[in-house]
Amino acid sequence: MSFTPREILPGVFHIEDCMGVCMTLLAGGREALLVDTGYGLEDVAACVRSLTDKPVRVILTHGHHDHALGCRWFAQTWMFPEDAEVFRTYTGRRWRDHVRGQAVARGFSPQSVPDSDSLWPMPEKLTAGRIDLGGLTARVILRPGHTPGSAVVYVPERELLLTGDDWNPCTWLFFREALPLRDYLAGMRELLALPFRQVLCSHRAGLYPRAWLEAFLAGFTPEAMEAAEDSPEGEAQGIHTRTLKPAPEQWIVFDADKARGASHALSAD
Ligand SMILES: [Zn+2]
Repeated sequence: MSFTPREILPGVFHIEDCMGVCMTLLAGGREALLVDTGYGLEDVAACVRSLTDKPVRVILTHGHHDHALGCRWFAQTWMFPEDAEVFRTYTGRRWRDHVRGQAVARGFSPQSVPDSDSLWPMPEKLTAGRIDLGGLTARVILRPGHTPGSAVVYVPERELLLTGDDWNPCTWLFFREALPLRDYLAGMRELLALPFRQVLCSHRAGLYPRAWLEAFLAGFTPEAMEAAEDSPEGEAQGIHTRTLKPAPEQWIVFDADKARGASHALSAD
């Protein structure tokens, strides 16, 4: 099995799947919480069972294929209902065919992404709040941005924030379901009220200091907006995308049409 679990902090396993996306297992003394399920080509539940013998609850930070397709390995999952349509689209036939193509290119069998729609029932409705795992607490927060129902998770005992896809050093904010840049930034800046000191995101294996997210959120100056350049990421979907570099080694790809007129209103102060 080609999962790579890393115990980044005590009881916090950041697990990379065979396609390179990460999920996070919070292994408490009484129960465990799996945040996201990856592409699901291989048995995610078996990987989790090798890391904890406690009951496991599974939540999805959002409904995109690379976070949600792995939920077929679990009897029950939870997700904010605001992402129901996103989930339906990205676990649907078209995206599964897309992922199957990627999997076959990496040497997996076509059956690694099954045909049956029934394997991806709609997750149960997640509600915001605290989950006491025994020695670890997960505070689940609705943070619309990357998608309308995106979740982030704060773990006070580890001073840790799990951002899902709401923030990566390379953040994508251009799919049809993404919020406009201005709204996304306003919401993300609210997260700075939480006293986290480190961050785990979905598309990097390592831990990032809080300063990276702070620098990212402070970097949307009029000058940086002016310097943003057209980029090809949205072409396949007919979306005009631009790439902005708010801080060293960080960038965001956003929908230029949704950000129109916002260039002088995005600074943090
Ligand atoms: Zn995503």
